[in-house]
Amino acid sequence: MTDPFDLEHIWHPYTSMLNPLPTFKVKRAYGATIELEDGRTLVDGMSSWWCAIHGYNHPELNQAVSNQLQNMAHIMFGGLTHEPAIELGKLLLKITPPSLDKIFYADSGSVAVEVALKMAVQYWVALNQPAKTNFITTRSGYHGDTWNAMSVCDPVTGMHQIFGTSLPNRIFVPAPQSRFDAEWDPQDIQELTQQIEQHHHTIAALIIEPIVQGAGGMRFYHPEYLRQAKALCEQYNLLLIFDEIATGFGRTGKMFAWEHAQVEPDIMCIGKGLTGGYMTLSATLTTKQVAETISRGEAGVFMHGPTFMANPLACAVALRSTQLLVEQDWQANIQRIEKILTQQLTDLAQLDHVADVRVLGAIGVVELTTNVDMKTLQQQFVERGIWVRPFGKLVYVMPPYVISDDELHYLLAQMSAVVKNMQGANANVLA
Ligand code: PMP
Repeated sequence: MTDPFDLEHIWHPYTSMLNPLPTFKVKRAYGATIELEDGRTLVDGMSSWWCAIHGYNHPELNQAVSNQLQNMAHIMFGGLTHEPAIELGKLLLKITPPSLDKIFYADSGSVAVEVALKMAVQYWVALNQPAKTNFITTRSGYHGDTWNAMSVCDPVTGMHQIFGTSLPNRIFVPAPQSRFDAEWDPQDIQELTQQIEQHHHTIAALIIEPIVQGAGGMRFYHPEYLRQAKALCEQYNLLLIFDEIATGFGRTGKMFAWEHAQVEPDIMCIGKGLTGGYMTLSATLTTKQVAETISRGEAGVFMHGPTFMANPLACAVALRSTQLLVEQDWQANIQRIEKILTQQLTDLAQLDHVADVRVLGAIGVVELTTNVDMKTLQQQFVERGIWVRPFGKLVYVMPPYVISDDELHYLLAQMSAVVKNMQGANANVLA
């Protein structure tokens, strides 16, 4: 079934070229449906990794791309500008934290993180504090696969041992333990406090995914952590960077996750759902104060300028996608999805091989007690007509917001059936 050329020559995310995992060839996708080349259809539980918030092949998003194509697909952003970048920027400033005022468009989430880290370093250089070049972050984080983004990912799941000393050494504190919906434990902030007290002279910024740690473990933590982290950053002169690449555009029930804590960062990265999953685009936003300080520094400019910066096709579709989101009662829609996720998944927590079930907004997570055998599980999901891609101990869904009640019930019933069948079936579970 796997295409022989693909199998032999094309690298997929995190795969071996000696023993590649099977791939399923997609003919087309529409709404919350993925149609395979052999005619089978799958209900999509992944939104192509948080991106396709309005589903696939959306007529209005298609139109936005076609319209822009008639004018230009791309134009360099050095010395030139265009309507899609400007209109998108105006809309982004309305929906992001009020203190953010300047927008840097970049190509992907990882690059947005690189840009954020560079901004923080240039900021302190401009303020004559060149020793402040390091970063502090929590364990279980994920910020992307480029070099410096990788350096602030969880050292274990982020594969730091593979890259060894080639990665810069960052300061890690334990992941927040107080759950989003449970009591706040003041112990949770202690290690961060101690490390900042000790190392603040060398730290440019704290970087963190607000509320939801995504690919590092799909963990939902208490908003108080962010409030106290912000206070520490202010007290010890650290910039605060929020990586909202996964959490943005309504996924957690708020437009952006900072709203759960009402804590504004100095720098914020967005991506993924920004273009509704049509193409790659990200942005790093910052305050007037940070941007102007960098601009007053010796370099006089911010030192970054990707070739495809503010690609007009990507900006045009991002504009339409974000308009579509804000024009609808998206909160009610996310609550609808959240309710069904909670109803259908909660009981799985009773199974011996399920360690935890958690739901926030349009994210549903089943954490198992042991790692899954991705190949076997993936095959079973496809045979049951759903697209769910587990990793580690996690079987999770974050469906497109356009998913109907019936489709969502089907997705979760099939996913639950597979999880239930795993009980005792050790062939399907790798320790
Ligand atoms: N930050 C977070 C929180 C992410 O979830 C991701 C992607 N999974 C990234 C950064 C990197 O984004 P990209 O894959 O577009 O480079």
